[in-house]
Amino acid sequence: MRYISTRGQAPILSFEDAMLSGLARDGGLYVPESVPQMSAADIRALNGLSYEEVAFRVMRPFVGDSFTDETFADLIARAYAGFGHNARAPLVQLAPNHFLLELFHGPTLAFKDFAMQLIGQLFQEALGRRGERVTIVGATSGDTGSAAIEAFRGLDNVDVFILYPHGRVSEVQRRQMTTPTESNVHALAVDGTFDDCQARLKDMFNHFEFRDRVRLAGVNSINWARVLAQVVYYFSSAVSLGAPDRRVSFTVPTGNFGDIFAGYIAKRMGLPIDRLVVATNQNDILHRCLSGGEYRTSEVHPSISPSMDIEVSSNFERALFDAYGRDGGAVAQLMAELKAGGFAVSQGALQALREHFDSGRVSEEETLATITVAQKTMGELLCPHSAIGVKVAEDLRNPAVPMVTLATAHPAKFPDAVEKASGIRPPLPNRMADLYERPERVTRVANDLSALETLIEERRTK
Ligand SMILES: *Cc1c(COP(=O)(O)O)cnc(C)c1O
Repeated sequence: MRYISTRGQAPILSFEDAMLSGLARDGGLYVPESVPQMSAADIRALNGLSYEEVAFRVMRPFVGDSFTDETFADLIARAYAGFGHNARAPLVQLAPNHFLLELFHGPTLAFKDFAMQLIGQLFQEALGRRGERVTIVGATSGDTGSAAIEAFRGLDNVDVFILYPHGRVSEVQRRQMTTPTESNVHALAVDGTFDDCQARLKDMFNHFEFRDRVRLAGVNSINWARVLAQVVYYFSSAVSLGAPDRRVSFTVPTGNFGDIFAGYIAKRMGLPIDRLVVATNQNDILHRCLSGGEYRTSEVHPSISPSMDIEVSSNFERALFDAYGRDGGAVAQLMAELKAGGFAVSQGALQALREHFDSGRVSEEETLATITVAQKTMGELLCPHSAIGVKVAEDLRNPAVPMVTLATAHPAKFPDAVEKASGIRPPLPNRMADLYERPERVTRVANDLSALETLIEERRTK
């Protein structure tokens, strides 16, 4: 299996090299050269298997010969062993034909653990075998950073630096990043927004001299291995609801378009998905694009669903690549226009996107109201991100097709908004109940590339 860049100018890589490098050297994102197919019989055979067994069968063809079957199965088993639920991704019913996929039973209580825990294992194995070490730098609006730190803390071949926007993450998110004691973990509070953090990270990747010197590796949602790990729960949940003999739709609370792009890959592999519904908060570039055809940046307005507070949606480039007939030159041109503010999606590409994706936008008031109503009428305490999904799903779904809404975080990760809406302050699960007592360790840093690079250079293990 070979991986190519969405901008057509970077070397073609194996799964392992694409995973270890993150961003392609032409600024693009790696995608598989072709998408492996699962037949109806292959999908039917997933029925009744454990999450880990489904994960193995769905991901195996993408990994090629980077890992043996035995090693890959073992790494999957280790990745999910720390989850607080045997089903890993349990499905609960909200309403007739509307289901919630609970993706928050991992160690940091958000869906990002599904990908990050696996990536931690894959990095450890690959780097150990090669006798190499890397510096992982990630930008986070909250959940990626905590998931990355949790996955890489204490691993031998990795230093992990996480850039988060100072004052703009929830207390639980911050504490999950600042309380680990391992010396290879470095939380950096940047004076800026999430988009500033993401932009500085991209700058580091485009500064090849620095990139090569510290052996920079990325685990943001642009990393193909993360997308891949998220494909699995589309299969496990759809099969529980009758796939491949019944079509299923999904609604996904979306920021960087990574999670929903994984659903699109599942569909391309042969899973009978009817609609993939993008649910955004007031930072709605994706909804504006899918409904009006213009992909144009605007200011970020902090919301009660901070993990979706984005200005541009980095994985959308992968969807554009397919929508433009896999023309890397066309994508490179669009991304250059984006730097100057945005672009209009061509009629043909917009049509191609709309073949798969619908979208909806939810205001702050509607988010709170949905938490209130879901608690009263569906028996579910939702986090604000998940509430955005439930609201859009209820508005847009076809009652005849089962709808699965992805619950992307545990309500206890965002207790203030949840309490405001429901009157209930959700407690942390027992396994992390002492989070508020642990001492914090963090470095505050300016939104400045050379300040960040100097700090990383000094702190990393040499
Ligand atoms: C990261 C995150 C999202 C958005 O996921 P994308 O893959 O960036 O679209 C939504 N909800 C929560 C809780 C998250 O942590």
